[in-house]
Amino acid sequence: MIYADNGATTKISKQALEAMLPYFESNWGNPSSLYHFGQQAKEALESARMQIAACLGAEPEEIYFTSGGSEGDNQALVSAAVNGARKGKKHIISTSFEHHAVLHTLKKLERHGFEVELLDVHENGIISPEQVANSIRPDTCLVTVMFANNEIGSIQPIQAIGKICREKQVIFHTDAVQAAGHIPIDVVAQHIDMLSVSAHKFHGPKGIGVLYARKGIPLTNIIEGGAQERGKRGGTENLAAVVGMAVALKDACDNLQENADHVTMLREKLIGELNKIPHSILNGDRDKRLPGNVNFCFEGIEGESMLLLLDDRGICASSGSACTSGSLDPSHVLLAIGRPHEIAHGSLRLSLSEYNTMEEINQIAEAVKNVVEYLRGISPLWHEKVAGKREFLLP
Ligand SMILES: *Cc1c(COP(=O)(O)O)cnc(C)c1O
Repeated sequence: MIYADNGATTKISKQALEAMLPYFESNWGNPSSLYHFGQQAKEALESARMQIAACLGAEPEEIYFTSGGSEGDNQALVSAAVNGARKGKKHIISTSFEHHAVLHTLKKLERHGFEVELLDVHENGIISPEQVANSIRPDTCLVTVMFANNEIGSIQPIQAIGKICREKQVIFHTDAVQAAGHIPIDVVAQHIDMLSVSAHKFHGPKGIGVLYARKGIPLTNIIEGGAQERGKRGGTENLAAVVGMAVALKDACDNLQENADHVTMLREKLIGELNKIPHSILNGDRDKRLPGNVNFCFEGIEGESMLLLLDDRGICASSGSACTSGSLDPSHVLLAIGRPHEIAHGSLRLSLSEYNTMEEINQIAEAVKNVVEYLRGISPLWHEKVAGKREFLLP
């Protein structure tokens, strides 16, 4: 099997897995217990918190453990909204191509009387800091812009956006699930107030994540319960997962540049090969993109058919995002960057990691070329285009 769907999830690293095992086998106490056995668990929890804080440029007391990226996004948005509403501020700025954890929370806030403004992300999938500056109003309580897009990999000018928000005293949250462990993050230098992270996107375990909230940013609970996470997130801590996440994030941050260089080289080779397919287009900015992200639209192709045929050849890829597969609507991200429906349906995301090899990239390129040729060959629509009875939409 060739795994090229690291935007959906990643394989847990050996180091993370091994670091987790003692917390099932011997150190399985409850960090809230007062006896020594519980306090050993507590120490492991706090040491993981310190490690994670260091990787993000944060203080340990600004780190809250969550069940993953979705929960962190939910809590960040609801917290900023509740805080804003107290001051009569109910205007929220975001973008049209956020993850559904953000977009669906924004929809919910709209039903509670908030006004949500979604900024246009342009054809390259990048908003400008000026758009944010021009949209901020006296009643704006939150700006939430993802660090890097999960489908097309485009990286936003986070530091500049953060600077504007800080100057105008508006809370700035970023969904950094695709960025953490892959590109540099420094919450202080980038003026970030809140940030969500998920371990399973950087070779950590699933079901665990982090919400960073800068000191002084008030949090509202999504999960009510005990006094865990300084009262902001009830529930006995998933200590093994927290430890696995800390190890995975530290590994990722320690080797960030080396991994990024390797993965970028693989990405460039793959983009170069797929660019040779006629009537195709790369989605997302050519340069400001995640090291491992390759996303193309192929005219005359159904993304789902392409995935199944690649699966037959042992290749795991995705079309649109994992969350929307199963629905027939084209990806909201591809529509947001202006791809017409017909083109958006023919999308393929190949997301690479440092576990991929050049040999695999060559096999993927070969397989995609064959599959595209085969599917076009059996498409009546395609034959009409070739015969000049219909227009090609892509050069
Ligand atoms: C995967 C992902 C999420 C959701 O994270 P989970 O840990 O799976 O809940 C949120 N945002 C982005 C950008 C993602 O890629």
